[in-house]
Amino acid sequence: MRNTVLFSDITIVTPDMADSVSIMEHAYCVTSGNTIEYVGVSKEEATQVAESFGEYDVYEGKNRILCPTFVNAHAHASMSIFRNIADDLALEPWLFGEIIPREDKMIAKDFRYGHLLSLAEMIEGGTGCAANMYDGARICSEASVEAGFRCQQTALGKKFIDGVWHTDEDEVRDFVDYCKNETNGLILPSLLVHSIYLYTEDFYTPLKELGEKYKTPISVHISETRTENANCVNQYGMSPVEKLDSFGLLTDTTVAAHCVHLSDNDRTILADRGVWVAHNPSSNMKLASGFADMISMQKAGVRLCLGTDGASSNNNQDMYMEMRLASFMAKATSYDSTVLKASEVFRMATRTGYLACGFTDCGIIGKGMKADLQIVDYDCPQMWPLGNPLSALVYSCGPKCVESTMIDGKFVYYKRELTTIDMERVKAETSESMDRLK
Ligand SMILES: [Zn+2]
Repeated sequence: MRNTVLFSDITIVTPDMADSVSIMEHAYCVTSGNTIEYVGVSKEEATQVAESFGEYDVYEGKNRILCPTFVNAHAHASMSIFRNIADDLALEPWLFGEIIPREDKMIAKDFRYGHLLSLAEMIEGGTGCAANMYDGARICSEASVEAGFRCQQTALGKKFIDGVWHTDEDEVRDFVDYCKNETNGLILPSLLVHSIYLYTEDFYTPLKELGEKYKTPISVHISETRTENANCVNQYGMSPVEKLDSFGLLTDTTVAAHCVHLSDNDRTILADRGVWVAHNPSSNMKLASGFADMISMQKAGVRLCLGTDGASSNNNQDMYMEMRLASFMAKATSYDSTVLKASEVFRMATRTGYLACGFTDCGIIGKGMKADLQIVDYDCPQMWPLGNPLSALVYSCGPKCVESTMIDGKFVYYKRELTTIDMERVKAETSESMDRLK
């Protein structure tokens, strides 16, 4: 593939700077290196821009939509090796009885190939970035860089010695240096603070100080279940939001997954601190965690994005499905079909997700932005006739309609072929992992 690509006579659907979504038909887009150099409707201008970079490839846009790649704002990528082996359980017996005992037996290659398996699934479904909350920061990030995939990746930042958690400053420092120097800007570090229920009270302040010292965002689960809330109130006399806030862990870089059971005061705190909330409709329904009240969060001014959660509680990582479910769930629970419109969930899945992960120049198709793009083929029964292209993306489309995915200017999926991931190897290795750990 050449360094410069001209997308020709294509339909562009993109969030814009004005907080809405723009649709441009018979449009042209030129990318060169990792940057978008032209967006508009003039074939002549587009050709001139492309020619100014020398030789270039043309991507024919007939019956195609060009839109930004999705951001999976809450993933546990390596957990795809636990797909379909512990289902139809409530969160607590599922997590403590089925998942954590298996995670304790994981070896390095389980992290690597489970991570790559999820990346392959996400890339084929038009996702180009994830907020990945998992151990194995370095192994997972090396796999992400090989695959050409963007991540906000958690550092564990702690070690469990003789039944007690200790912070691990060396790991965080080394990981922050690695992200800065060796990942071509694809990986940004964050710090894993799993939840209010996994550590003893005295451990949260050291974690907060560690995050502050290395300027890493905090990645945390909040109020996923009623049990979590009840236990927190019993133990601390406060909700999980209030207690985490009392430690100073909620800031304008914090990414908080779930937030299913919130009070008005919780929502005010999340909005005031500028926390990014990652909504996970499939996981919340499958684990019967409940329905996150997106409308009240929206009204309170909370910043909302979308995620799949891990493949063992979902059991796939399909952002098209999450957009559709987020919208449907909000409509059904509020008895109001006008809420969480296609444009709002599309922004959540794209631009807002990138902002939440710290990639501020991604998620909009505009000159000077990063070339992180997906091409959707609507020449198929599921998408035909197209009608409103934005409605088609949110309500009709699915991963099988994604034809190509470009991240940082490189096609990682081109005309339905993965270009950076050896799927046969990944399948063999992850099958072996599942056989060993199931
Ligand atoms: Zn999670």
